[in-house]
Amino acid sequence: ALTAGIVGLPNVGKSTLFNAITQAGVEAANYPFATIDPNVGVVEVPDERLDKLTELVKPKKTIPTTFEFTDIAGLVRGASKGEGLGNQFLSHIRQVDAICQVVRCFVDDNITHVDGEVEPIRDIETINFELILADMDQIDKRLKRIEKQVKMKDKQYIAEFEVLAKIKVGFENEVPARSQELSKDELEIVKHMQLLTLKPMLYVANVSEDEVATPDENPNVIRVKEFASQEGAEVITVCAKIESEIVELDEESKEMFLEDLGITESGLDKLIRAAYDLLGLETYFTAGEKEVRAWTFIKGMTAPQCAGIIHTDFQKGFIRAETVAYKDLVQYGSEQAAKEAGKVRLEGKDYIVKDGDVMHFRFNV
Ligand code: GDP
Repeated sequence: ALTAGIVGLPNVGKSTLFNAITQAGVEAANYPFATIDPNVGVVEVPDERLDKLTELVKPKKTIPTTFEFTDIAGLVRGASKGEGLGNQFLSHIRQVDAICQVVRCFVDDNITHVDGEVEPIRDIETINFELILADMDQIDKRLKRIEKQVKMKDKQYIAEFEVLAKIKVGFENEVPARSQELSKDELEIVKHMQLLTLKPMLYVANVSEDEVATPDENPNVIRVKEFASQEGAEVITVCAKIESEIVELDEESKEMFLEDLGITESGLDKLIRAAYDLLGLETYFTAGEKEVRAWTFIKGMTAPQCAGIIHTDFQKGFIRAETVAYKDLVQYGSEQAAKEAGKVRLEGKDYIVKDGDVMHFRFNV
């Protein structure tokens, strides 16, 4: 499964947020396949469509799809040079698929900031710079390793050399690889490097308790948004402290609490959805009397690939997929009615599954 790593300087609210994630997390018993790694928090992906399908189909049980966050502690200024947890931190970050960077926007004189004043842009630049330095280091090592082949005019290595040299120039101007103009071919050539600055980045602005309903009035948030828009990145706002209180509540109290705060969605739910989008993830459903279930797939996957998420046999023996769009199923009220209206399609092996498709796979065993 794809996972998003949570990073940030010390005292910005990472642990508070991650604790909320693990507390909201799914029961390990229901998800025996889930990792027991204490640094991983598995959460259910909130999806109103699943509730609606449950109402329609009235199954014995309903199973949401899940998403994993990884807590990556230990990033400090100088990490790429081995400060703090240094290299250990960097190897953990290499294993995640996207990065959620928690940025402190709340001012609280009782909580010291590692660099004095609360200054979110300086913090972001500190972290982004460490990631660039780590990538730079890796590129230099690689360049040294392929030096000989390049000298021997080996075409494949010359191509790699050129892309790496280009990325290095960007780094010298402090531009992360994800913001550099790299073609599909160029990206393919450097894929094996797992560069940290190629991973998609989401900024998580942590605001104070009295700002959750009006985060855009916080000048720090405004600056983070300006910064992020320059690199085409998303920003979500949360109050980590409030999130740690929300997870203690049951569903009903949670709604009342959110209403009192003047918001419609918890920060954690926003974070889950934003991370899901950032990774290009979508959801399809299976809906039967026994269970209604949401399944995560990567945008662009074909019907057999999606069937393979349930079971490899479904993919191997795939014949076709009976498919109805969520919207049509809800509009007609039942699969039978949707079928009569001609809304249930038989899709073959080249069909690209769409977000919200309700699928029934036919396969040979
Ligand atoms: P980390 O070092 O980034 O993991 O930060 P922590 O989660 O340990 O938070 C550092 C301190 O900031 C703790 O005392 C938290 O209670 C406090 N803190 C975290 N989030 C908030 C917040 O949203 N508002 C306020 N006022 N304090 C917070």
